[in-house]
Amino acid sequence: MPILRLEDDTIYTQVSDIQQELDPLNIQINSWPIGSDTKLNALLAEDMLSSEEKATVLKGLDKYFQELAKTAGYKERDLIVLHSSVPNLDAMLSKFDKTHTHADPEVRYIIAGEGIFGFVRPDGSQVELTVQPEDYINVPSGVEHWFYLTSSRQIKAIRYFTTTEGWVPDYTDTQIRLSRPSVIDPRPTLIAAAHQFYQKGWMVGTAGNLSARISNNSFWITASGCLKNKLSADDFVSISLDRDKGEFYSNPTQSNSKKRPSAETSIHAAIYNLFPDAQVCYHVHSIENNLVSRFTKNDTVPLPPLEMLKGLGVWEKNPRLAMPIFANHLEVSRIADEIYTRFKDTKPQIPALLIRDHGVTVWADSLEIANNYIEVLEYIFRYMVASQKLKG
Ligand SMILES: [Zn+2]
Repeated sequence: MPILRLEDDTIYTQVSDIQQELDPLNIQINSWPIGSDTKLNALLAEDMLSSEEKATVLKGLDKYFQELAKTAGYKERDLIVLHSSVPNLDAMLSKFDKTHTHADPEVRYIIAGEGIFGFVRPDGSQVELTVQPEDYINVPSGVEHWFYLTSSRQIKAIRYFTTTEGWVPDYTDTQIRLSRPSVIDPRPTLIAAAHQFYQKGWMVGTAGNLSARISNNSFWITASGCLKNKLSADDFVSISLDRDKGEFYSNPTQSNSKKRPSAETSIHAAIYNLFPDAQVCYHVHSIENNLVSRFTKNDTVPLPPLEMLKGLGVWEKNPRLAMPIFANHLEVSRIADEIYTRFKDTKPQIPALLIRDHGVTVWADSLEIANNYIEVLEYIFRYMVASQKLKG
């Protein structure tokens, strides 16, 4: 799913909005499904690919090339695989991270990882487009642009060519005004995650909240009452951690005071106070996590020893893990207090907790890992609910 950022930090995630913003440059974006072929998807998950493996991937997605060849005269395609383990990756990337144009269109189909294209629009304004798997983009010849990788430092993209020479960069010397967002601004990733969780039914309506640290003492969190499939960068509030004053946090540190932080901010603040390494905290409400919280009246629920637990960093054989459960109080700060008091003395076995009849909270040291934790836990909860059903 593409994400567009303007110079004033407005974020667009709807393809129609993005297309409209890019129309002055005649840039085309599309979403092309990768499909569910197991072998292909396994190859896409690899860090690096051999030439045979690249050929297999290209063959698996060749219908798109055939279509481009037929309708637009494309003659060649190849698969570029960039990963932090590639020797001279930075030298390679430095050719493209300054403003430049090409004599030929730059046509890419992203099939793994992500990257950021920056563009200079005809009015001189600059925008940045994050491209992710299934995004197809056609940048016409002569469009002033730049490209770099996000902090994940990996991408797999199919490149389509009409000729094989026309994509040598012509540098233009335009100063890039947009700052690199990957470290400074986690909001585009949080917006994409909320959209994905909304579609899975884990953040229905305005429910749930996502946060990420800005610094040791502050974090971004989704504002109260915002629809989780339509977030923009404005729908986040920055919060200061303030445990010393007996509270978990103090009021928003920035100017958009019209937005109120999520009602559940104190839970996130308690986690950041407890775990200095936690960079990200996700809290979602799903039917399964609510049901699992009812399996016991105790303050922990045992997790089945599934292979999937490896996704939470647990590598023992037949691990015996218990998920902490907390009571749901109308006053959220009371839940946060109980989490803080209990975890201050006894760290949980896994970076996650359940609030009874309410939802799950996970924390991690990166956005990618937090995403993975939620996916893994929700899988385990689905399994637990299904196996309960089998028992009858
Ligand atoms: Zn909640």
